[in-house]
Amino acid sequence: MTISQTIAQVQTRIKNACVSAHRSPDSVKLLAVSKTKPADAIRQAYQAGLRDFGENYVQEGTDKISQLKDLTDICWHFIGPLQSNKTRLVAENFDWMHSLERMKIAERLSQQRPPQCEPLNVLIQINLDNEKSKAGIQLAQVNEFAAALKNLPGIRLRGLMAIPSAEATDAGRSASYQRLFAAFSALREQYPAADTLSLGMSNDMQAAIAEGSTMVRIGSAIFGPRNL
Ligand SMILES: *Cc1c(COP(=O)(O)O)cnc(C)c1O
Repeated sequence: MTISQTIAQVQTRIKNACVSAHRSPDSVKLLAVSKTKPADAIRQAYQAGLRDFGENYVQEGTDKISQLKDLTDICWHFIGPLQSNKTRLVAENFDWMHSLERMKIAERLSQQRPPQCEPLNVLIQINLDNEKSKAGIQLAQVNEFAAALKNLPGIRLRGLMAIPSAEATDAGRSASYQRLFAAFSALREQYPAADTLSLGMSNDMQAAIAEGSTMVRIGSAIFGPRNL
């Protein structure tokens, strides 16, 4: 299958999930996760109509951003772990950052965001299932973290992001997603710009949409398996 065919398939899955959840199909944005895939694959996805692309590795992502400079309306999302010595590249090249979990990183992004750019859109990453190996803050800490972000120029809090536990059962995952959605709803009441819940990947997009995701991050279902 071509990339435009896999995209059409994913768009149909998203639409069907929205219909089953009694949600409007345009309430869920498709973010294409292009990590490990060449710039040419992104170009094909762009030609098929996608504009939002997610990268996990700073150097790989900024290389592709410079190769695709001619596609001026792409929106680039950084979705991987970020070390403090790499924040400048994210602040200067990306439009969104999904994996914010430390105030030190937020402060650096704020200072390093070029003043002529729109504020960097940030999502707070939540460690939903208290996994030791996983990044993210606890749901109970969201209020405090969000309040501290408010004082930082150059970044704009847009919502929450989570990666589910690979071990969770369907029921366990739904329960986690419901807790996350409740926290997201409370956050949005306090910060109206926080309109984004980044949740759902190739294997769980239906479940995530059923529980209120507004942005699904889809890699392998569009670009095929990753062999790295
Ligand atoms: C790789 C990755 C994805 C995409 O995963 P697929 O299962 O290939 O759809 C989504 N989110 C994050 C944070 C990722 O690292």
